[in-house]
Amino acid sequence: MLRKIRYILAAAVLAGVILVCGGAAEKLKHYLAEETAGHISAGKNKEVTVVIDAGHGGLDCGKIGVNGAEEKKINLEIAKLIKKFLEEDGVKVIMTRETDERLADHQVDDLEKRVEIMNKSGAALAVSIHQNSYTDASVSGAQVFYHSKSEQGERAAGAIQAGLNELNPQHSKKIKANDTYYILKNTEIPVVIVESGFLSNYEEAEKLMEAEYQEAVAAVVAEGIKEFVF
Ligand SMILES: [Zn+2]
Repeated sequence: MLRKIRYILAAAVLAGVILVCGGAAEKLKHYLAEETAGHISAGKNKEVTVVIDAGHGGLDCGKIGVNGAEEKKINLEIAKLIKKFLEEDGVKVIMTRETDERLADHQVDDLEKRVEIMNKSGAALAVSIHQNSYTDASVSGAQVFYHSKSEQGERAAGAIQAGLNELNPQHSKKIKANDTYYILKNTEIPVVIVESGFLSNYEEAEKLMEAEYQEAVAAVVAEGIKEFVF
């Protein structure tokens, strides 16, 4: 009699184990199916965020061109066009500014705020738009900067520089590592600075003020960004 009860108990326990295992297996199957589906849809409709930072603004004009061009205005125009091109391809864009205003009264605080936006964004990349200037007025061409310890920053810089060089093959430049620029040093996500041209070069300063050229620059920068993020 006692043995019979033991058998019954053992059978009941075994049945319970099978039931639990069966349920777990079903759950695992379901989980795997969801995981796979998740990966497939992530590949197709991957939501990607990029931060576009138009350098300077408001009282801080940035560099002043030999033709009187204000860097802050050119930066903003190009940044807005990059935003447009990226959004057309489904990229979510966060702008650090969309008007002629800086983010704080002092430059240090302004830069700090820009970095804060980048670090909180969860973005795949941040791109800061600036214009260059040099004592030798004959120097021209666009150049992209990245932090030497950021492999991703270097890759993004390379993709963007390639497009800029195609746009201006006669003044093509190489990407450059920089570990002192505040934004490159303090941003935790991949970040590059695009200096789209020299305002100290008359010809380039004139071109940078033209809407058509701003659009061409923005288009190749956006292409490079997409190559990096997709
Ligand atoms: Zn600048």
